[in-house]
Amino acid sequence: MHTFDAVAADRVIADLRGLAALTSTPDGAQRVAWGPVWSKARGWLRDALSPLQLVPVADAAGNNWVTLPGESEKTVIVGGHLDSVPNGGWLDGTLGVLVGLEALRRYATGSKPPVTLRLVDWADEEGARFGKSLMGSAAAAGRLDINEIRPLKDAKGVRLEDALRDHGVSLETMMNARKELGGIDARAYLEMHIEQGPVLESMNKSAGVVLGTFGLERNMLRFVGQAAHSGSTPIPMRRDAFLAAAAFALECREIARRHSKPGAGVVCTCGVVKVEPGIVTAVPGVAEISIDQRALDRDVLATMLREAQEASRRFAQENNVTVEWSPLFRIEPRPFDPHLLQLCEESVREITGDAPKLPSGPLHDAAEMVPHMPVVMLFAYSARGLSHCKEEDTPEEHLEQAISAFLLLVDKTVASVAQS
Ligand SMILES: [Zn+2]
Repeated sequence: MHTFDAVAADRVIADLRGLAALTSTPDGAQRVAWGPVWSKARGWLRDALSPLQLVPVADAAGNNWVTLPGESEKTVIVGGHLDSVPNGGWLDGTLGVLVGLEALRRYATGSKPPVTLRLVDWADEEGARFGKSLMGSAAAAGRLDINEIRPLKDAKGVRLEDALRDHGVSLETMMNARKELGGIDARAYLEMHIEQGPVLESMNKSAGVVLGTFGLERNMLRFVGQAAHSGSTPIPMRRDAFLAAAAFALECREIARRHSKPGAGVVCTCGVVKVEPGIVTAVPGVAEISIDQRALDRDVLATMLREAQEASRRFAQENNVTVEWSPLFRIEPRPFDPHLLQLCEESVREITGDAPKLPSGPLHDAAEMVPHMPVVMLFAYSARGLSHCKEEDTPEEHLEQAISAFLLLVDKTVASVAQS
C-alpha cells in the first residue's frame, strides 16, 4: 500500500501545468468541448499515455476510455473531463483525468494489476457551448434524450449535430455508448474534483469525502399582474408582479435556512429575474424568476419544492397577481456508496489527518454512474471557492495532499475489489 507520495503528486501537478500552458490564453483555459483546443488537450493525453503502451478509445458519444487490463476482469474506473468552460480554470475536470493518468502509470509499470483499471475522459461535462451538461456520461449511463438535444445550437448558430459529427460522433448512434458499461464488470467509479466551493478552505483542509451529489429542482416562475403608470396608480390598487417575485426570493432563502443542517448544506437560489415592461415609470406587470433548489436528501428536496410552491401562491394572492410554474431541469439526489465512502474516509484521514465530509452542490459525471456501480468522489480544496474562471486554484501544498489521498483511495479500492 502506498502512503503520501510527493513524487507522484508533483508529477500530476506538473502535468496539470503543462496541459494548462498548452490549452489556455491569458484569460484562462479554453478547452470547450467539441472545439479545437479540446482536441489538442485530448491529443496531449494520448501522447502522455503512449509511453505506457496505452491508447484512448472513443465510444459512440465521444468519451475516451483507456484500459489497463488486470488479472481479473473486475474493473475500477477513474473518471474526469478535459473540457472546460471558456476562460476556465486549470483544475476543473482535468484534475480528475490527470490523477487517473498517474494511477495508470503506477499500475502499468511492474506486474499486472489484480483488477482491470480504466480511465475515462468524459465528453462535454460542462455543456458550455450547447447548454447540455454531462452529455457524454449521460449517454454512457443510458440517460440522454437524443430528441431533447437534437435542436441545440451554439451562440454562433452551429448545430450540435454538426459539431459532434466533426468529432466522429453521430446523434443517431451516440446512445451506443451504453455498451461501454454493459460489456464490463464495473465494480467502482472514483472521481477527484476541486470542491468549487469554500467549505474545505474555511476548515483549512486539503481534501474532503463527498457524500453524494445534490438532487436538483430547477423551475421558472411567471408572476402576472397588470402593468400600470407609476405616477397615477395608488399602491393598494396595484397588481405588481415584481413584488410577488421579490417576496418569493426572500422566502426561498428562509426555506434553505430552515432545512440546513451542518454538513448537509441545502441551497435555494433565484438567479434570474426578468421584469416587464422594464421601464422606470411602470409598475411591473410581469415578473419571471428562476428557482434552483438542491439537497442531498430526497425527502428534504421534495419538501423544499412544496414549500416554495406554497409560498409563490401565497405571495401571488397577497399581490393580486397569478403565478405559473414551468419546470426547467431536475435531477435525483445521488448518494454515494457506503463502502467506498469508508475507503475514501480512511484515505483522506491517513494522508491529511482528518476526513471532512461534504455533499456536492455542482453536478458531476460521477452522479450519472451511481445507478450503475458503487461510486465515490474526493474533493480538493478550492481557493476562495472559485471555479469556471482563471482565478481557479488550489495551493500546491493542499493539492499534493489531496492527490496523494486520491491515489491511496485508488489503491484501497483496487485491493478491496480484488478481494471481493
Ligand atoms: Zn468539472
